[in-house]
Amino acid sequence: MSNSAALLANNAHYVATRPASHNVVSQTILGECLIIACMDPRVNVEQMFGLEIGPGGVQAGVIRCAGGRPQTIMRSVLFAQLLAGVKEILVVHHTHCGGLFITDEKVRPAFNHTESCGGPWKDAAPFAATQFYLGGFGKPNETDEESLKRSLREDVQSLRDHPLVKSSVVVSGYIHELETGRARKVEC
Ligand SMILES: [Zn+2]
Repeated sequence: MSNSAALLANNAHYVATRPASHNVVSQTILGECLIIACMDPRVNVEQMFGLEIGPGGVQAGVIRCAGGRPQTIMRSVLFAQLLAGVKEILVVHHTHCGGLFITDEKVRPAFNHTESCGGPWKDAAPFAATQFYLGGFGKPNETDEESLKRSLREDVQSLRDHPLVKSSVVVSGYIHELETGRARKVEC
């Protein structure tokens, strides 16, 4: 069974068994809180923070992207502000993130060689020549913990400084420990 076939089979089961409270057509689609987290499937934002759609549930908008870095998803952040009046943004990075290993510095030169870095690519030259932003955040002179904290502080500050993010929005940063499930607040 292909991945998509398996997913659709699961969806059919979901349709048949989902609780009535999940009939959300008439409900608000985003909360006043927005969570930005890595797309890594090990980072289960809904379970980690107990998000639940429906009356009495803790709701938040969730944006998933590589590394949980806001630089490439500002369009979604601004949509959330406009649609839901977001008052708080949580940025969540996590231990063992691929962003610690896949950095722009490593990948950009590698794209010059079609055999390396997962090639062949349709056209390696444009990537290598441009300043395409991957947002990897590992540094050879830092521990993973130091890289996570530094990148988190960069991302929180970039949202606080962003001209289109309201000054009243509270932005905070967290490291999600895959080992324990904990979301550990980092002073930013
Ligand atoms: Zn990650």
